[in-house]
Amino acid sequence: MTVSPSRLPTPAEREAALLAPYAMPSAASRGRRHPEPEHPYRGPYQRDRDRIVHSSAFRRLSGKMQVFTGDMGDYHRTRLTHTHEVASIARTIGRALRLNEDLVEALALFHDIGHPPFGHAGEDALDECLRGEGGFSHNRYALTIAEELESRYPSFPGLNLSQEVLDGQATRAAKHAPPSAGQVGPLLEVQVVEAADSMTYDAHDTDDAVKLGLVTIDELAENSLVRESLAAVRRRYADLRDDLLRKAVVHELLDRQVGDLLRETGSRLAQLAPQSAEEVRRHPVVVRPSSGLAEQKLELERFLYERVYRHARLVAVRAEAQDRLRTMFAGYRQRPELLPPRFQTRAQAVGISRAIADYLAGMTDRYCVQIGAQHFGIRLMGG
Ligand code: MG
Repeated sequence: MTVSPSRLPTPAEREAALLAPYAMPSAASRGRRHPEPEHPYRGPYQRDRDRIVHSSAFRRLSGKMQVFTGDMGDYHRTRLTHTHEVASIARTIGRALRLNEDLVEALALFHDIGHPPFGHAGEDALDECLRGEGGFSHNRYALTIAEELESRYPSFPGLNLSQEVLDGQATRAAKHAPPSAGQVGPLLEVQVVEAADSMTYDAHDTDDAVKLGLVTIDELAENSLVRESLAAVRRRYADLRDDLLRKAVVHELLDRQVGDLLRETGSRLAQLAPQSAEEVRRHPVVVRPSSGLAEQKLELERFLYERVYRHARLVAVRAEAQDRLRTMFAGYRQRPELLPPRFQTRAQAVGISRAIADYLAGMTDRYCVQIGAQHFGIRLMGG
């Protein structure tokens, strides 16, 4: 790339100089539903990232629980800090592989934007409320937010994101559906975010669970990935006090996972030598860990499921949240006039059940509790 001193490189020129041939170049984007002129110094995926960060749904992630609720302390992750950790790790991986880091970042910041209040417990309750009416999935709801619910521009609804960001999220939404004939796989940038999400929550849920006293590091060391990480830390530092030991183990957990993923993916890419983003989509998933590490991760996830996610303290939170959402859903069905006017209008287009779920899913945990008490007199457990 030669740049005259009087002219800065365009986003497309910067990408051409930096990206691998198998990365997704923004110049080849399928564009936006509502065409817009290019921005002079921000590339299309940078603009997507900015639209996501400035959206109201993104800000509300700070009030949504990841695994542990706000009344359990303020150390642990929220849905927002989880999202930032995923974006940080995904960008590290994307940059090392010379992928389109702007697209990786936009996808990562967007990936959990559709989470309802109270995490997966909230999602399951809404899914049950919409049984027979298409169900509820946070991955699909993210698309509804981006295309219909956010309102920023005078001439169209939604955020008008690039097609690659929407397609990446649609892949997440269709994760459990069987692939149809002739279907191509996701872009590498999408694969990176998927891998980063999983290694991020494995590491930070381990951290939070130990910090909250739900399990000890020694109990976690039943798992071989934690055991090996602990041994590596102890080789480096003879005698660490508990909180530093926990942090060092979590650091090691992430380092091992990212290192393994980069080695494996790097050698797969060297072997396949794909010449374009399109070509790489015809191969099975490329961004994945070694089979040994994948097995260790599964084992850790089973441990977290049994010993952390189903811990008595979380089971109680889960049950209470689900009761609240079910009561509110039934309450709004009976009294739709309590819905904000825009959701009453929306009910005419998508039906009353979907409009209620769209309203409930947008709430933070705190707002859900507050409005549940105000509209339907729902009290906190023991309150
Ligand atoms: Mg996530």
